[in-house]
Amino acid sequence: MKGISRRRFIELTARLGMAVPLAGLMSGCRSGAGKARVVVIGGGFGGATCARYIRQLDPAIDVTLVERRRRLITCPFSNLVLGGLRNMDDISHGYERLSSQYGIKVIHQEAVDIDPVARRVRLQEGAVLDYDRLVVSPGIDFRWGMIEGYDEAASRIMPHAWEAGEQTTLLRRQLEAMPDGGLVLMSVPEDPFRCPPGPYERASLIAYYLKRHKPRSRIIILDAKERFAKQDLFMEGWKRLYGDMISWVPLTQDGKVVRVNPRDMTIATEFERYRADVINIIPPQFAGAIARRAGLTDKQGWCPVDYGTFESRLHPHIHVIGDACVGDPIPKSGFAANSQGKVCAFAIVALLNDEPVLDPVLANTCYSLLDPDYGISVAGVYRKAGENLVGVEGAGGLSPLSAPASFRAQEAAYTYEWYTSIIKDVLG
Ligand SMILES: Cc1cc2nc3c(=O)[nH]c(=O)nc-3n(C[C@H](O)[C@H](O)[C@H](O)COP(=O)(O)OP(=O)(O)OC[C@H]3O[C@@H](n4cnc5c(N)ncnc54)[C@H](O)[C@@H]3O)c2cc1C
Repeated sequence: MKGISRRRFIELTARLGMAVPLAGLMSGCRSGAGKARVVVIGGGFGGATCARYIRQLDPAIDVTLVERRRRLITCPFSNLVLGGLRNMDDISHGYERLSSQYGIKVIHQEAVDIDPVARRVRLQEGAVLDYDRLVVSPGIDFRWGMIEGYDEAASRIMPHAWEAGEQTTLLRRQLEAMPDGGLVLMSVPEDPFRCPPGPYERASLIAYYLKRHKPRSRIIILDAKERFAKQDLFMEGWKRLYGDMISWVPLTQDGKVVRVNPRDMTIATEFERYRADVINIIPPQFAGAIARRAGLTDKQGWCPVDYGTFESRLHPHIHVIGDACVGDPIPKSGFAANSQGKVCAFAIVALLNDEPVLDPVLANTCYSLLDPDYGISVAGVYRKAGENLVGVEGAGGLSPLSAPASFRAQEAAYTYEWYTSIIKDVLG
């Protein structure tokens, strides 16, 4: 690194949330005695990224990742499974490299309790982990019961498929089993929720499957909102690719689902009742249970944080990243969780080494596929302003309307590339 000091290098990369091979650059451990210990709860897009970057930045820090599942089954590209473009193996990834390449201790158990005063995490089999810094990235949980009749049992008949895995497989099977000429109903919650453009990408890729296999079928999206992410781009693409197959019903046209009945496959809005062959309910959400149990959430159920470090505003020494934190105006996305994971890693390494923490710049890009060769995107860049995050003017943007097919195909190619590269960045 000729002509640039170590501190300046870290400053630059930290500010940009950049991916850099820094192993060996930093000296080691916390000032004072002993090896610094970081525990990370949740090995998804936020947590795994953060664990990996901490070890890469400072191999002297002891990092333990607690993740209850053996494999990361990604929500990104799970809509492609529904559309028949990918299978479950394509979106399932192991944690092996995090331990073999980066020396992270990966424990596949549920973290059941956090003691923020003693700085301890208790695991489901009774083990206790002490930490100097804790990172909590548990993703979301569902607010069962906010839609009358929609609980975990109902989700086995009317899947949400908003956590990838068995639910994705179930919804795919239901689509395969439904008759030609059948109806698929989708229910979308108010903001904030995981992946704002996700429901509309899902409708597109279900339409892609139906158009080829059950072309007389229809999709109705019942929405608890007035507008949605990339709306004009989605609507333009739906018309072009699927004619009238997809209808969207906003809040003011009675789009909010208030009740479901899995026994007769019906759902109700305020004034209407619908019966359908396949019903996909995306319920309202809040931060994962461990964050709520530890007192890290506000009244709305999300975790307020400092945007320089992602340290909780409610409990010191605990950082919350990913979908669980109040990230406004950054949408809850895998891209954003990955970006926050890096910023948080830089902050923790700096704090443990008594280095200054710098205000970061965060980025997000959400790609969506409307068919295998039709991609659209929205990008944003954000910086800390006082206690808030604000969008950086003139940075980011939206795919243009009325673009030629070659442009959409190019964006689709970027989407596939993005998936490959983010999985590498998250899991090593
Ligand atoms: C259908 C769909 C499509 C999407 N497509 C995209 C996309 O194209 N691009 C994009 O950027 N984003 C996309 N997203 C959003 C993305 O999946 C999330 O924003 C992202 O996963 C958030 O990362 P996270 O780390 O907060 O949570 P997660 O990735 O969900 O990770 C949380 C992890 O914590 C674990 N965990 C929770 N509690 C505990 C506990 N107590 N003990 C141990 N482990 C625990 C869970 O098992 C999980 O593995 C999509 C989402 C959906 C639903």
